[in-house]
Amino acid sequence: MLARAVTHALVGLEARPVEVEAHLQRGVPGFAIVGLPDKACQEAKERVRSGIASAELEWPLRRITVNLAPAGLRKEGSGYDLPIALAVLAASRQIPPERLAEHAAVGELALDGRLRPVPGIIVAAEAARRAGLGLLLCPLESAPEAALAGIEPVPLRHLAEASAYLQGRFRPAPVEPAVATANGSWPDLADVRGQERARRALEIVATGGHNVLLGGPPGTGKTMLARRLPGILPALTLDQALEVTRIHSVAGVLPSTHPLIDRPPFRAPHHTASAAAVVGGGRGPRPGEVSLAHHGVLLLDELPEFQRPVLEALRQPIEDGSVALARAAGQAVFPARFVLVGTMNLCPCGARGDPSVECRCTPQKLAAYGAKLSRALLDRFDLVVHMPRARGRELDAAPGEPSAEIRARVEPASGRLRESRPSLGKEGRDLLTRAVDTLPLSARGRARVARVAATVAGLAGAESIEPAHIAEALSYRAPPELAP
Ligand SMILES: [Zn+2]
Repeated sequence: MLARAVTHALVGLEARPVEVEAHLQRGVPGFAIVGLPDKACQEAKERVRSGIASAELEWPLRRITVNLAPAGLRKEGSGYDLPIALAVLAASRQIPPERLAEHAAVGELALDGRLRPVPGIIVAAEAARRAGLGLLLCPLESAPEAALAGIEPVPLRHLAEASAYLQGRFRPAPVEPAVATANGSWPDLADVRGQERARRALEIVATGGHNVLLGGPPGTGKTMLARRLPGILPALTLDQALEVTRIHSVAGVLPSTHPLIDRPPFRAPHHTASAAAVVGGGRGPRPGEVSLAHHGVLLLDELPEFQRPVLEALRQPIEDGSVALARAAGQAVFPARFVLVGTMNLCPCGARGDPSVECRCTPQKLAAYGAKLSRALLDRFDLVVHMPRARGRELDAAPGEPSAEIRARVEPASGRLRESRPSLGKEGRDLLTRAVDTLPLSARGRARVARVAATVAGLAGAESIEPAHIAEALSYRAPPELAP
């Protein structure tokens, strides 16, 4: 006897349809899964057998073969448990095969038959909708995420509920898709007193999506400021929110309590993170921090502490806005368009740039510190801001401008800039040419100054880039103490 269930295999951010065929034959009882299953998928045998017993259903004493088709596509993970169990139950006529055929199914089984969420539910649900299947059998916790794809999820807690539902004896409560919540619980820039120049730089960064390096002695609020950047970024459109949600879902980090990520994400990997963790990789492959920060902020706190290969691996996503990762068959491409914020002390002991303490670093230590950051990486920061230690007068100052007020300037300006970039007049071009010679500025550096100047002009509501806008952009080029 034969029965089929439909599920999906994740390939990067896409899902491909997979047919789960269960074939029951007379002969010595046994259970085999064929069709390129990985180890986790192969272990479905134990979970499915135990889950069916726990659901007080019958394990067929037959020679059972489960085939996952197409055979050429590698099947990874535990999401095949539910469709495999249902195909076996349908093949032994414990549930009606024709009812099962109207659904897609995905979910991991616990040994006691409970259903557990798996990564990539929204992607699988979107693929099910495209395949013309309007119903997805899935774990209860995953149902709001699945509903984002515009299909009707069937939320289930246990394999017993799945079989009762398909027998027409159980009707789960309908699921509301996750809704957007208000943008607002990022820490507020009102908490930052003083540091007017760094605050201004952050506003430019948020408007134009530029990369920024904050340098200065410890305790000047570099990290505090960086953590407040997402709160002034333009709000995500629904399409952007869904794109970010897909990436977080496939990476297995989507919170079930808040399945639609509707605010610019903020990621801050530790400096011990591997290149695979930061740019992506491993089995699957999985998206890395650069992709989890897509449409948001990637903070590399204490930039020189990161391993050199990690910093070098960042260059490609910074240039391309995406990461291409090798996988068994071809490539997986993950988007990675983020605002990069780096912070650094000016020397290993941290005292450099602080008038109240004396730096005790040897010239050798200083040189090694600077050498960690290649010129090529430094070149990719559009703005470099030196944050001096705040004077007592600044700390007593009134609270800074709140994030909401800054965002009210950033949003319209970034919208204007998307429609048309202010153009460079003759005066501006001459000023830039002089800067190339005197600073000096590389060709890439010149282009970056021009882009930052366009953002400054956009914030000012100007239609062309004036010399004052270029002068401000030039003031954010690396001061000598940050150069390697
Ligand atoms: Zn020092």
